[in-house]
Order: sequence, then structure tokens, then C-alpha cells
Amino acid sequence: MNTTDTIHSEQTRKRAENRYAILRTLQSVQPMKRTEVADYCGIRKSSVTSLVEELMEKRWIRLEDESRPRSPLVINENFWRIVSIQLDPGKITTSLINLQGKIQSTNILKDKSLSTKDGYLKAIIKCASKEIKNKKNIFGLALSIPGMIEPETGICINSINLPEFENIPLLELLQEKFNCPIVVENDVRASLYSSLFLEARNTAIESAIYIDVTSGVGSTLMVNGKPFSGAHGTAGEIGHLVAGNSGRICRCGQRDCLETYSSIPAICNDINEKLGLDLNSSLDIIDNIEKHPQIQEILDEACEHLAIPLSSMISFTDPEVIILGNQSRAFYKLLIPALKKAISKRQNGPSTRELSIEIGPEHSSIRGAAALLMDNVFKQP
Ligand SMILES: [Zn+2]
Repeated sequence: MNTTDTIHSEQTRKRAENRYAILRTLQSVQPMKRTEVADYCGIRKSSVTSLVEELMEKRWIRLEDESRPRSPLVINENFWRIVSIQLDPGKITTSLINLQGKIQSTNILKDKSLSTKDGYLKAIIKCASKEIKNKKNIFGLALSIPGMIEPETGICINSINLPEFENIPLLELLQEKFNCPIVVENDVRASLYSSLFLEARNTAIESAIYIDVTSGVGSTLMVNGKPFSGAHGTAGEIGHLVAGNSGRICRCGQRDCLETYSSIPAICNDINEKLGLDLNSSLDIIDNIEKHPQIQEILDEACEHLAIPLSSMISFTDPEVIILGNQSRAFYKLLIPALKKAISKRQNGPSTRELSIEIGPEHSSIRGAAALLMDNVFKQP
């Protein structure tokens, strides 16, 4: 490479960096005037002017009031759509999501065909085609999966919950069918992105532990401002760590995994057995707790088990915040006091800081996968 090329590629890199800064800023603190964007991002005003022109042409941003040329800028939220697909056992959810991360529409497929690997893979393509074909303004396709995903290749290494999902090159399969930007991500990591990219914050979070209590127990980490997936893409897989000694059998074939104590099905099971009820979801738990206050004791016990791996993660990573996601605020409010108590009981060291636990947005994995896709596209030179 000669000197001119080096200067040119350096300029391209800098321009991409500035473009990304403007988009991320508008996503979290819009509307903003051009001069405000320049100050906030530390970019020269002339560069902002030229980048804003480019971004308006792409229709990624727009004037807040289109009739006034000096109007503040906002993300052009309703021109582009992201097709985001969430895979679950026996169910595929497809949502169209705008550039502000808001869900515009949702379709759910529940079908016998989802019980086999081939049927499931065909159904993914069918769901995506339905939204992508014949539609304009598709920004890209995002897929979130309850399973181990190799971040670079988009290969699903395995998923206990989906039929024979082992070493499936999901990203490649989708790239063969669809000519648009595509991401494939683990559902729990995707959820973390929705908290990072789509929530308005004053300052960016540098370190976090993300936990979700759903049909299993998922977790993921953010370290030094970046999601951390580990050497094999499995960092934060705590659902199948041993977290009790009652001999409970797990769907993975082992005993006493955390999921057998602290997942939604496990908690509902405990409630149903002890109180003779028939609860199946976190909504059922919320609806019944007033009438059956003993439910709180069972939730507190689930927190004791969850605190076993979580307290180790906290002492290893010293996070700014723990984010609980993919359930309603009302449900997590029932868990937080017991969870704080159970964690502090396990930490004998001189910990003077109050543990910061916040509740993430709902539908976070399907929105977070879309957020990751936007982030990838926004970063491109
Ligand atoms: Zn297990």
C-alpha cells in the first residue's frame, strides 16, 4: 500500500467512525441540532454537515420537521424495517422492527413441522421470505436463538431446546437465500444488546451481567464496553451449572442444574406442587401472588439457587449493573429484594457498595437482535 492509499483508508475509517457516532447518538438522545451533534460527538461541524447529507440520502435519518431545513435531526424510524426472528421450542416469532427498535408487527408460527430439524429450518426460511420478498425498505434480517452460536461464523454449535440443532451453519443458509445484511445471535446476548443500544442512558455502560429467567436461565456478560462471549461463544452459560442437591432431573439429562430450581417452569412446578395450583407462566405468578402470598417464599427460594452462580460471576467481574431481562417488570420486582439478600449472604468480603440491579426492556431478545444488526450496518465503512 502506498502513502496515498494509507491516507485514503485512514480517512474512510475516520468517516465510518464519525458516521457511527452520529447514528448511535441520535438513537439515544434525539432530536438534536447539527451543532449539538458536533459538540456531543466531538466531530468538526463541516464533517457533520457532509455526513448528515449522506445519512439523509440513505434515509437513515431525517429532519424532525421536514418543512424546516434547519430543523433538528432524528432517526428516520419508520422508513426502514428489520425482520427479526426469535426461535423457541415449537414456536417461531417474526417481528418487523423500526430503526428506533420499536416492534411494528408480530407473527407467531406454532406448527407440528417445528418438531424436526428439517421442518424447523424450512419454517425459518418461510417466515423470513414472507416478510422480505415483495417488500421494500428491508434493512436486514436478524435471528436470535436459544443456543450456542459461534460469533464469527453464525454456526449454531448446539441448542438443547431446538430439534437436533447441532453444527448448523445458520448464517450461511440465510445468506444463500436472502441478499441483505444478516446477523445470527444467541438470544441472551441479543437481549443484552437491547439494553445497551435501545435504552436511553446518560453514559454508556462499561460492564454488566445480564440474566434472564425464562424457560431456562440465561446469562451473558459485558466487559470493557463490549459483550463478552468467551473463547467458544459460551461465556455466561449458567443454566446447567449445579445449583442445589435435591436430585432434580434436568432436560439436559444431568441433575440439579440451576434451571431445575430457578427457571419459570421449575418455579411454577414448585408452586403447583406446594399450593395445589396450576400456574404456567410468570403472568400466572403475578396474577396469583396476592391471593396466595406463600408464592413469595417459593420465589425467594428460587433466588437462593440463582445467587449461587451469580455471586461468583459478580466477584469475578465486578459489574456496574446487573440487568434482568425478557420478563415483565412486575415479575422481576418480586425477585429483586430476595436476590439482593441471597447474593449478599454469599459474599463475606468487605463489600460496601449497594448492588445495582435494573430491569431490562421486554421482548428484549427479538429487539436486541435487530439492534445488533443495526449496529453492524451502522459501523460499515
Ligand atoms: Zn441441565
